[in-house]
Amino acid sequence: MSGRGVYGHERQKEQLGAAIASGRLAHAYLFHGRDGIGKKEVAKAFATAVLCGKGRPEACNACRSCKKVKSGNHPDLITVKPDGAFIKMQAVRELIGIMAFRPMEGGRRLFLIDDADRLHPAAANALLKTLEEPAAANIIILITAKPYLLPRTIISRCQQLRFRPLRRETVARFLEEQAGLEATVTRALAASAEGSIARALQLQQEDYLADREGILTRLASGHAGAPLPRLALFRYLGKSKKEIHDKLTLLQSCFRDALVWKELRDQGMLVHGDHLDQVHGIARLTTDDLLFNLDAIAASLRALEANANKLLTLEAMTFTLRL
Ligand SMILES: [Zn+2]
Repeated sequence: MSGRGVYGHERQKEQLGAAIASGRLAHAYLFHGRDGIGKKEVAKAFATAVLCGKGRPEACNACRSCKKVKSGNHPDLITVKPDGAFIKMQAVRELIGIMAFRPMEGGRRLFLIDDADRLHPAAANALLKTLEEPAAANIIILITAKPYLLPRTIISRCQQLRFRPLRRETVARFLEEQAGLEATVTRALAASAEGSIARALQLQQEDYLADREGILTRLASGHAGAPLPRLALFRYLGKSKKEIHDKLTLLQSCFRDALVWKELRDQGMLVHGDHLDQVHGIARLTTDDLLFNLDAIAASLRALEANANKLLTLEAMTFTLRL
């Protein structure tokens, strides 16, 4: 199963394709892995191939069934999502009601339950009953970034597929091909996206690129070590946990680039290769200093993860960095 337009996850696609080809489909799957990496896209590609009904791992993308899936109108592909905070009992009741009948188009019927960790406990309980006595034609795919929030009784009845963060090159390729971004920009976004396409697109919407320009220039200037610029850097790192995390990761990538540039002189290996002048400027620091800075940032990230005092942690770090 190649799942046209689905990036990465080759092993999972292969496994699902083989299941279709052999006719050995599970009646319930659990797709888990962090947000924004394409679990739902793989599920949809899988559903399309199953509904295409030719027993081949690839959907033909030309038949009536494939066209209906594409336009979001296939009666045997049903998506269930949270309504407010929960996936409510009512939604699961409807699902069970539909299951009592044969699929509309004759073959199989698939239910995609997105954000499955948000199943209301009562709804999860009702769903468990259907998982215990599955009706043959139905396939349920639970999708979640937080499988640990699902009852074990449910997890144990599903075939699990774990999805890993995408490789940087995969995220960059998506951004180039699907979002039409320049290669220089995609590389920088992909490097900070932690394997998530959704995250990369979000960064693009935020001021990430402007931020990057600002911080590279600041670090390259040679004046960053004076007290006032340090204070400015400290303020720049932000207040909310997420903002701090993002900016520290960015700061990390700048020092990392300087180190790579010093050692390898290979522009192609840089995250910020489109800002070579600045990277070269930061590379005036010694290897020891760069390593020290990377350690200091990593320690701060760990401290923040462990809920240390944000301001104290950042202040201490900002004033120890070798700039
Ligand atoms: Zn087809």
